[in-house]
Amino acid sequence: MIKRSLIGLTAEEISILAGSSMPHAKAIANCLYKKRIDDIMLVPNIPKEIREELCKKSIPGIYGPVASRRSSDGTIKYLFRNESEQEFETVLLTEGKRTTVCVSSQSGCRMGCPFCVTGKYGFRGNLSAGDILTQVLGLSGSAKVTHVVFMGMGEPMDNIESVLKACKILSAEWGMALSQRNITVSTVGITPGIKYFLEESNFNIALSLYSPFPEERSRIVPAEKKYPAHEIIQMMKSHPSSGKRRMSVAYIMISDINDTEKHLEGLKTLVQGSGIRINLIPYNPIPSDDNISSSPERMQYFRHELVISGISASIRKSKGTDVSAACGLLASGLK
Ligand code: SF4
Repeated sequence: MIKRSLIGLTAEEISILAGSSMPHAKAIANCLYKKRIDDIMLVPNIPKEIREELCKKSIPGIYGPVASRRSSDGTIKYLFRNESEQEFETVLLTEGKRTTVCVSSQSGCRMGCPFCVTGKYGFRGNLSAGDILTQVLGLSGSAKVTHVVFMGMGEPMDNIESVLKACKILSAEWGMALSQRNITVSTVGITPGIKYFLEESNFNIALSLYSPFPEERSRIVPAEKKYPAHEIIQMMKSHPSSGKRRMSVAYIMISDINDTEKHLEGLKTLVQGSGIRINLIPYNPIPSDDNISSSPERMQYFRHELVISGISASIRKSKGTDVSAACGLLASGLK
């Protein structure tokens, strides 16, 4: 019999697999996801026959990275390889008491954004909920993780079932018990996936914009042609769940490309009155690209102008650039 991996299963699924009550299944899930016990026979307070049944049918299934590289700023990039030989990268960022894991939702990506190294890597496949969770649980020191962001390889809304299942396990009391407010899913915008995500969850959402103008944006984000950003922003702000989660727009700033006065006014028009926050992010040039990031002064100017217009805005620091762990640089290797 092929044994099933427990990682990625909900308490309900463990209950069915083990033939146990829900309280017992929750206790098993809790040991796996929170206490990181990787020997089922060591799970306390569960009848021996249930543990033996589970051992016959399953393995914990948590696996660690195959390689890692540490940046001079302390950011660590990891390479994982699953049993289907799909590779994907994960980034661990520590800042004060906050420990964030940036996870991948796919091996590669099929969205084809031209500025992104992952896009150039191509699409190798969707990751399972277990593959997503092992990027957190398979790291040493995973117990310290406070935040999880889906900003690694792949477009999460293109693998929405696995992403939502992983989010559910990350936030469940019987799972990792992270606050829903500390889990953020980032997207370039796939309308059906976002609609489903908004209806089925209260996790944070961040839309990667790049340009407030449809024609220009569609050259940077091909998905714009089918799923216009202005329609997605309208859907985000009018959704009944909008007050229960953080909604943001990520705006990567490229010098003389999308940091002009016209872009600033376009940004204001797009999000004014929506309550959506704008995160301004420096651009990380990819190999063979002559574009450079907007200067810190220009980014400060954008932030100031947005704030005095009543729009919540902040500047996010870019970390891990020397090991290609920053936005748009995953899949550029660990060597
Ligand atoms: S930016 Fe995101 S959606 Fe676009 S190719 Fe890269 S990983 Fe995919």
